[in-house]
Amino acid sequence: MIPKDQIEKLQNSVDIVDVIGERIDLKRSGSNYKARCPFHDEKTPSFMVSQTKQIYKCFGCGVSGDSINFVMSYDNLSYPDAIRHLAARYGVEIVEEYSGRSVDKSHDDRKELFRILNKYACDFFHENLLKEINAGTSEVAEYLKKRKMGIDLVKKFRLGFAPDNWNMLKLDNRFSDQTEDILIEAGLRKKNEKGNVYDQFRNRLMFPIFDTIGNVAAFSGRSLRDEVQPKYLNSPETAVYKKNEILYGLFQAMETIRKTREIILVEGNIDIITMHKFGFTSTVAICGTAFTENHARLIKRNCDKITILLDGDEAGKKSALKTAEILAEVGMVPGVVILPGASDPDSYLYSTGKEAMEKLLSCPLNIIDLVIQLHGGNKTTANEKAYLAKELIASISRIKDPVLLDVYSKEASEKSGVDLSIIKKEISNRSPDRSKKAKLSAETTLYCINPEDPVEFTVIYIMLTDESSRIKFISLLTADDFKNAEASKMFSSIYELYEEGEDIKLANILVDFDQKFKDFMIGFVFELEEAFFSVRNGEKDISPEKFEKAFGDSMKKIKLRNLGQKMNKLREELKYSDSSESQDEILKKMAALKTVQGELINGKN
Ligand SMILES: [Zn+2]
Repeated sequence: MIPKDQIEKLQNSVDIVDVIGERIDLKRSGSNYKARCPFHDEKTPSFMVSQTKQIYKCFGCGVSGDSINFVMSYDNLSYPDAIRHLAARYGVEIVEEYSGRSVDKSHDDRKELFRILNKYACDFFHENLLKEINAGTSEVAEYLKKRKMGIDLVKKFRLGFAPDNWNMLKLDNRFSDQTEDILIEAGLRKKNEKGNVYDQFRNRLMFPIFDTIGNVAAFSGRSLRDEVQPKYLNSPETAVYKKNEILYGLFQAMETIRKTREIILVEGNIDIITMHKFGFTSTVAICGTAFTENHARLIKRNCDKITILLDGDEAGKKSALKTAEILAEVGMVPGVVILPGASDPDSYLYSTGKEAMEKLLSCPLNIIDLVIQLHGGNKTTANEKAYLAKELIASISRIKDPVLLDVYSKEASEKSGVDLSIIKKEISNRSPDRSKKAKLSAETTLYCINPEDPVEFTVIYIMLTDESSRIKFISLLTADDFKNAEASKMFSSIYELYEEGEDIKLANILVDFDQKFKDFMIGFVFELEEAFFSVRNGEKDISPEKFEKAFGDSMKKIKLRNLGQKMNKLREELKYSDSSESQDEILKKMAALKTVQGELINGKN
């Protein structure tokens, strides 16, 4: 477990602008930073980052949070892993608490355990392979020789060898004290119908699959003989491995991708390794599954240019089109290279060399050309033209980016000979309505139910932002003055931090709240930020008068409201009072309240 004070320590040491700026392109915009949202498709930026408040919010799709939340979503990590990753990246030492060997392991502890077991398994397979290579004559060493995979590649991809044995892994001392259940759940052992348990991978060349930050998430094992099926045996999905959230080789390609912002996508594990060998070090592969929108988003987050490189057979072409369509759906402009004949990247590179591949990659097809090629080139008869036009419309109607859609519609019209207006009409008939904005108002209605709620949250905002107003509010209000439960809780947190002389930071205070409330509060803060700050020469200009006035206004509103509530209570008491003495008493109190009310409304006090 990571204690709260350690999370606060981390929040105080990292700057959200660095964390996000390292991953996407941030541009200064007035007092905030702006970017195109990495979590939804958009042309104009609606993703805002506030350096002063250390939070982000997308006004297009509604996501919001702090540095930790961003790393969780962007790098696909659990909350504790995101904290650990940030701490390691920025050199912040975090002391974790271990509750001993608890039987009821939490989900995150289990993930941690699986990563450790995968790391051990990766080492175990790798050590075995090095032994086999040194021995020189084994089947796997022969296989590597045949595939021309040298020791440098073996090391770069940490390739391994699963011995031809049912229990070798289990007998290794790194695994011997783990229960069978854990090893089965981690995907390293397997149980058959008879209840016998054995090593999942046997006599296979092992390809460890890393996540983006270098943890071993899973394995893909290739059989050494073609008659042994399946050719590739992959780990089952586990707590740390979701097939459609991982690309094989992305971790190894990341160094190049960060520089070039380009990715080449291939299909096979061997292809990717050969591509790297020939210098195409930004190559990644889909591992043993269909290409999904999650893969597409993972690619989009990491690069600006994507080239799909697939085999020249019918299956390769069809899968290229599907992949291109999914990439277009998330707003990318995929280029497609189909290899000639029946070659795959591996065989093509060995038979024709690096320059030929470079030449192919330099002139990829776009989606329209690909559809036309799939249908055997340009058509002459009316029927054929109409058919082709329909296929083109089906593919390009999946493009969500309006500019791209326009360009491709024109090209489709030219190449099919069908009038542009008809193509556009067909496309609009197919496009589903997309409105993502509803989410924002849903949060607001969730937390701003009563008319006075916005005032209370405004007070909280001022307390977070302006020190002199904060001190005044703390001296004049208590948590009970807030009728909204969340506002009251936030007030208490601010009060506590103030008493302890700690920094008062939104991110630290929000740690105690659930994500829905965080979303609401962060949106609220961004809105008020616009209202309270003016921007001059790109610098935030705090205007003390605005806070002074806001302080006065909100105090007045809260006091008036509380007076009104007291007044209502007295009225109730009056209704049920049975002695004239007590009635007099109540009426006196009410008169006094009225006076205070009048003074407040007329601006005294
Ligand atoms: Zn968004």
